[in-house]
Amino acid sequence: MGRKKLARLDGIDDALRVGPEPGAFDLAGMDRAATPCVKDAATAAELRPLLGDELADLQERLYAEGRTDGTRSVLLVVQGLDTAGKGGIVRHVAGMMDPQGLAIRSFGVPTPEEREHDFLWRIRRALPAPGRIGVFDRSHYEDVLVARVKELVAPEVWEARYDEIVAFERDLVAAGTTIVKVALMVSRDEQYKRLAARLDRPDKLWKYNPSDVDTRLQWDEYQAAYQAVLDRTSIPEAPWYVIPADSKDYARLAVTKLLLDALRSLDLGWPTPDYDVDVEKARLAKTR
Ligand code: AMP
Ligand code: MG
Repeated sequence: MGRKKLARLDGIDDALRVGPEPGAFDLAGMDRAATPCVKDAATAAELRPLLGDELADLQERLYAEGRTDGTRSVLLVVQGLDTAGKGGIVRHVAGMMDPQGLAIRSFGVPTPEEREHDFLWRIRRALPAPGRIGVFDRSHYEDVLVARVKELVAPEVWEARYDEIVAFERDLVAAGTTIVKVALMVSRDEQYKRLAARLDRPDKLWKYNPSDVDTRLQWDEYQAAYQAVLDRTSIPEAPWYVIPADSKDYARLAVTKLLLDALRSLDLGWPTPDYDVDVEKARLAKTR
C-alpha cells in the first residue's frame, strides 16, 4: 500500500515547475483546488509521513557533509499571500527534520537598519551555512511583490530587481546552494474563508492583521505581481514551483516532495572519516 501512489508523486516536479520562457505559466488559469499527481487531499495527508524517513536520512547526510569539508546547502523559499499557508509549511515540513540542521528565517517589514541597505542585504545574512537547509518564510521576492503593489519604491527600482534577483540566485547556485522556490496559491474564496475563520476564533485572532484586508483589496495587483515573478525569475538553475494551496494537506505534501527531490539530486553519501577506523577500534578495545 502506498507504493503506487508514491510512484505517481514522482511526476510532481514536472507538473508544478514553471518553465523559463516568459508566459510559460498562466497564474489566472490555474485551478488552486487541484491536487496534481495525487488522488485527493486525504491521500496527500496519508502520503506525507511516508516521505519522512528518507527526508531525515538525506538531511543528516547533508549535515554531516557540512561538518566535514562540504560546501553545499539547500534553500527553500516559501512565498504566498496572507493565509496561503506559509507558516503551516514551515511547521509541518521543517518539523519532519532535525532542527539542528535547519535555518528558518522569516522576513517582515524591513527594520530601520535593514532599510539602510540594499534589499538583498538581510537576505545574504540569512543564507544557510554549508550542510544546512534554509527555509525562508517570505523572502527577497517581497521586494518585487509588496514593494511593487504598494509602491514602496519607484517603478524603475523594483523593475531592476528582477534581474538583480536572477543574478543573485545564479551566484548562490554556483556556490553550492540548491534553491527550491515554492509559491503557494490559494483561491480568492479560500482566502476569504481563512481570514473569516481567523476573526471567528479566539485562538486565531493573533494571526489576523487589519492590513490583510487591504492586501485582499489589491488581489488583482498581487496576482499580476506574482505573474511577473514567475515570468521573469523562473530560471533553469532555480525554477519556481507553483503549488495549488486550497488544500493544506496537498501543499504540504507537494513541498515535502520537492524538497526531497532536491536532496536526492545531491547524491549525498557519508563523509569519509579523517581517522583510521581500524586503529580507533583497536584503541577503543584496549579501554574495555
Ligand atoms: P507576516 O508574514 O504575516 O508576518 O507579515 C509580514 C509582513 O511583512 C507582510 O505584510 C509583508 O508584506 C511584509 N513585508 C515582508 N517583506 C517586506 C518588504 N521587503 N518590504 C515591505 N514589506 C514587507
Ligand atoms: Mg500575515
